[in-house]
Amino acid sequence: MYFSRYAFWMMALFVLLGTPAVLAQSSKAILKQHIYYLASDEMKGRETGSAQVEQAAQYIEAAFKNYGLQPKGTDGYRQDFTAKITRVPVTDSLRAAANIIGFLDNGAARTIVIGAHYDHLGHGTIGGSRDTLHIGEIHNGADDNASGVAGLLELARHYSQNEVKESFNLLFIAFGAEELGLLGSKHFTQNPTVPLNQIHWMLNMDMIGRYQPENGLAIIGHGTSPAFVEIFDGVTSDIKFYTSKDGNGGSDQTSFYKKDIPVLFFHTGGHPDYHMASDDADKIDYKALQSIVDLEIKIIDKSMHVAKMPFQWTN
Ligand SMILES: [Zn+2]
Repeated sequence: MYFSRYAFWMMALFVLLGTPAVLAQSSKAILKQHIYYLASDEMKGRETGSAQVEQAAQYIEAAFKNYGLQPKGTDGYRQDFTAKITRVPVTDSLRAAANIIGFLDNGAARTIVIGAHYDHLGHGTIGGSRDTLHIGEIHNGADDNASGVAGLLELARHYSQNEVKESFNLLFIAFGAEELGLLGSKHFTQNPTVPLNQIHWMLNMDMIGRYQPENGLAIIGHGTSPAFVEIFDGVTSDIKFYTSKDGNGGSDQTSFYKKDIPVLFFHTGGHPDYHMASDDADKIDYKALQSIVDLEIKIIDKSMHVAKMPFQWTN
């Protein structure tokens, strides 16, 4: 492991001053900035095939570029594909979509995949809306899933700027067309730009912005590798969390699980604004979101002490 001079002096400083109880790795202000941008009315709910979801894709691409990630799509950072809409009431069935993929190449043999989808329901007219009174209004999708994209971008920023060369590579993927049936992650796992047998495990974030203290954060997929027992051992957070075994579920980790890759899915649970026009940025718990991203960093770092993670089916 490489220890930077910066890390050495920071350590020395903490010995002098006493280590703070919680050292935040992610920035609450930056998380907030991403969500307020992606879930603004100007983004019109990031409907697959729209000019606005393309604008969101370009925002993510610009961030990856800014963090010095290597393009790992099929056309730069982009992996374009066609999303086929199979559900009513949509009359056009084919739409342009893209995954945005950035790679932190540490020259390692194995890679950890970190993902979140960036599309949402637009005005609720492509199906999926639960909002019978507000069909036609913008479904901003702050929790679903501007929150996950904010987490993705903060993890990309952290790992590209921490001056540590990790013993694993990290592949950051913003998935398109999740709301239409996990289409972006399906496309990636059928057309991977990093061989699937080199993937250590996959972390997915979908709806991590509405932390409920009574329930805690759900971390789903703990049973998909026996190695997670060791990885979670001793991991603490200032928020409450619990693990559950199953690797299957309603988001993009499922596509990886089906390819025998261990997965963890971070999720703060359902709420009355889920798939409604009222899923707005001012309802996000930014402090808890920051704690969730910091907890993810701890888990990712610990998973780097495990050379190989055997896959295990759960049900
Ligand atoms: Zn959704």
